[in-house]
Amino acid sequence: MKLDILAFGAHPDDIELSCAGTLMIEKKNGKKVGIIDLTSGELGTRGNAETRKQEAVDSAKIMDVDVRENLLMADGFFRNDEAHQLKVIAAIRKYRPEIVLCNAPEDRHPDHGRSSNLIIDAAFLSGLKKITTFSGEGQNGESTNAQKEWRPKYVFNYIQDKYLQPDFVIDISDVHEKKIEAIKTFKTQFFDPESNEPQTYLSSPDFLDSVIYRSKMFGKMIGVKYAEGYISHKMIGIRSFDVLIKENT
Ligand SMILES: [Zn+2]
Repeated sequence: MKLDILAFGAHPDDIELSCAGTLMIEKKNGKKVGIIDLTSGELGTRGNAETRKQEAVDSAKIMDVDVRENLLMADGFFRNDEAHQLKVIAAIRKYRPEIVLCNAPEDRHPDHGRSSNLIIDAAFLSGLKKITTFSGEGQNGESTNAQKEWRPKYVFNYIQDKYLQPDFVIDISDVHEKKIEAIKTFKTQFFDPESNEPQTYLSSPDFLDSVIYRSKMFGKMIGVKYAEGYISHKMIGIRSFDVLIKENT
């Protein structure tokens, strides 16, 4: 399946906390959208890989994304090296997205910045013909179905925990409530008065408020209720001022 937008996150719930609104808006606009989590978030203090797997499936249903996969890299220890890049390249070539979204370039969790570097490098390398990747495996474990090169037109960083100045923001007011619903699917991670698990940075009642304040702040910058912010490493071009005038922001 070819996707229009493919969002990568180091941990299941990174997408929900940062760019889920955009994915839902674009899905409503008729685009094909998908999510690839790099790890199962197995080092998280609360819950475990199994609970987070189920939470990711439940949340994907709420967001109505076309695809959600997990590359099963090691939480905390994946690297931006050849082996990991080849896995990401294979995923990009499989879905051939026009736009890739990835973690913030620097953030509270060190996996996020490393994930950003990994995805940005892999998205470029994916366009090189001489890098060979395969999509299938034969009966004897041999690689089959060589993939064609593919380079996404844009890679944008979403903004998650640390405040970073966005280059542009996207109005998500229409789907903001659903975004919060998707976040709350990760029951083991966030505030739950019934839980006996240890309290963490994410599980305090203030944490979800801070996610909402961030969306409100980005929304205020363009005169809408809620928005998500992005960083671009490439100049963004438009054909006409129409796109700005018609959007009325
Ligand atoms: Zn994370």
